[in-house]
Amino acid sequence: MTKKKATKKKVTKSTAKKKKTSKKKTTRTTSTHKLKPGMVFEYDPAPESSAVVSIKKKYELFIDGAWVAPESGKYLNNENPATEESLGKFAIGNEKDIDKAVKAARKAYEGEWGKMSGKDRGKYLFRIARILQERAREFAVLETLDGGKPIKESRDVDIPLAAAHFFYNAGWADKLEYVYPGKDVKSIGVCGQIIPWNFPLLMAAWKIAPALACGNTVVLKPAEQTPLTALLLAEVCQEAGLPKGVVNIVTGEGPTGAALVDHKDVNKVAFTGSTDIGKLIAKNIGHTNKKLTLELGGKSANIIFADAAIDQAIEGIINGIYFNQGHVCCAGSRLLVEESVHDIVVKKLKKRMSSLRVGDPMDKNTDIGAINHKEQLVKIKEMVAQAKKGGADFHQADVKVPRKGYYHAPCFFDNCSTSDMIVRDEVFGPVLSIMTFRTPEEAIVKANDTQYGLAAGIWSEKGSKVHQVAGGLKAGVIWANTYNKFDPTSPFGGYKESGFGREGGRHGLLPYLEVK
Ligand code: NAP
Ligand code: MG
Repeated sequence: MTKKKATKKKVTKSTAKKKKTSKKKTTRTTSTHKLKPGMVFEYDPAPESSAVVSIKKKYELFIDGAWVAPESGKYLNNENPATEESLGKFAIGNEKDIDKAVKAARKAYEGEWGKMSGKDRGKYLFRIARILQERAREFAVLETLDGGKPIKESRDVDIPLAAAHFFYNAGWADKLEYVYPGKDVKSIGVCGQIIPWNFPLLMAAWKIAPALACGNTVVLKPAEQTPLTALLLAEVCQEAGLPKGVVNIVTGEGPTGAALVDHKDVNKVAFTGSTDIGKLIAKNIGHTNKKLTLELGGKSANIIFADAAIDQAIEGIINGIYFNQGHVCCAGSRLLVEESVHDIVVKKLKKRMSSLRVGDPMDKNTDIGAINHKEQLVKIKEMVAQAKKGGADFHQADVKVPRKGYYHAPCFFDNCSTSDMIVRDEVFGPVLSIMTFRTPEEAIVKANDTQYGLAAGIWSEKGSKVHQVAGGLKAGVIWANTYNKFDPTSPFGGYKESGFGREGGRHGLLPYLEVK
C-alpha cells in the first residue's frame, strides 16, 4: 500500500468513527437526558405489518351467500386516507341489487332462519364472535388502512368491541321473553341497515348482531369510504356457516342507501349517519309502517368542575375530542370549564396536546391518524378558518403532520360563547371549543343549549354534584370522570336531533322485536 493510500484510509476510518459517535450522541440527547417539559421521546417507528391482509383488486356484492357482480357493472375506487393509495375497487349496488338482496333476506327469513330456535341462532352469533376474535389482527389492519384510524384504536377498541357485541347478543337469542317481561315477542322481518365511515366494523356489529339475535335478516349498506371490514365480515358469515341470505352486504353510494330505505319489502330501517340524511329518511318513510331508528350527529359537552382531578380530566378531554381524529358522534367537542380552573386546564391541555403523535395510523405509537377522507378534511379546514374569522382564541398543537395523506393537527378555540358557529355545529374532526361557567346550574344550561343530545361528560370528585348535574342534562349517555367508554350491555342513543332509538343493552333489542 502506498503512503498516500494509507493516509486516505486512516482519514476515512477516523471520519467514520466520528460520524458514529455523533450519531450515538444525537440519539441519547433526544431520547433521554435533555428532554424538555412537553417534548416527546423519539421512538423508532413501530409499524404494524399489512402482510396479514390481502387487498383484492375488485370487491363484489355479497347477496344470498354469494359474491355477485353489480347490475350497473360499476365500481368505485377505495382509498387509504393516510397515503392516498388505492385499496382496490368495490361494487356500486343499485335498486336492482338492493331488490335481489331484500328478496334473498326475505327468503331466508321465511325459510330456515325464521324457523330456527333462538338457541341455534345464538350458536351462529357465538361462532361469528369467535371468528372475529381469531381474525382480529386482520380486521384491525384492514380498518386502519381503509379509514385512517390509529392501529392501537382499531386493535384495542373497534375490533374487540365488535366481537363483544356479537357475544352479548348471542346470549340474548334464546332469552327474548325477558326483553319485554310478561309479553310474547316476535321478530319483525327484513332490516335495512345503513352505516357511516367512522367505526365501520363496530357499526356493522351494532346493527347486525341484535337484528340476528331477534330472528330477523339483514341487508347492510356500508359507507362508501370504508367498505372493507363489512366485506370481510361477509366472509366471516360464510366461514361461520350462516344460512345464505341472512346477512347481505350491498356496497355503493348514497343512492344505494336510499334504494334500501325505499324498498317496499323492508320492515325496519336502522340508520347511523348525519342528521340531514336522517331527517330525509324519516320524511321519506313517515307514511309507511316501517320501523325506524336513527343515530345521528352530536355536539356533546364535557364539563370540568374545579374539584375534579385535573390531570385525569385532561386525559378525558384528549380522549373525548381527539380520539379517532374527532370522528366520533359523541365526541366531547364542547368543553365547559369552571371559571376558577380555566387557566390551569388550558395550560395543561396545551402541554398534553404538544405530546400527541400525529401521523402514520399503522404505527403503534400514533395517537392521531388520518382524517377519513379528503372532503372531510376540507370541511374541517373550512370550519376552522370560518371560526378563526369569528375572533375566538385559537390554539393548534405544534406537531409534525405528514405531507402525503389527509391530516389535521389537534386544535381548540378558547373563550367561545354559546352562539359561536364552532360551538353550535358538528365539526367531526379534532377541533374543540372551550367555554366557562360559574355554577352547576349555568353548566347545565350551557350544556343543553344545543340542537343535539347524544352524550356528556362530568368531571368532579363529588358524587352528589355528578348526580345533580347528570339529572339536568338532556343527553343519551353521560359519563362521570371518564369519556368515550363503550360497552355492549349499555344502551347508546340520543335526545333531540341526535336521533331516536337505542343500540346496545336490552334497549338495543326493542327496535328489532314486535310485541305479539
Ligand atoms: P352520511 O352522509 O349521513 O352517511 C351515512 C350513511 O348513509 C352512508 O352509508 C351513506 O352512504 C348513506 N347515505 C347517504 N345518503 C343517503 C340517502 N339519501 N339515503 C340513505 N342512505 C344514505 O354521514 P357521514 O358523513 O358518512 O357520517 C358522519 C355523520 O354520522 C356525523 O354527523 C356523525 O355524527 C354521524 N354518526 C352518528 C353516530 C351515532 O351513533 N349517533 C355514529 C357515527 C356517526 P355513502 O357513504 O355512500 O354516502
Ligand atoms: Mg377507504
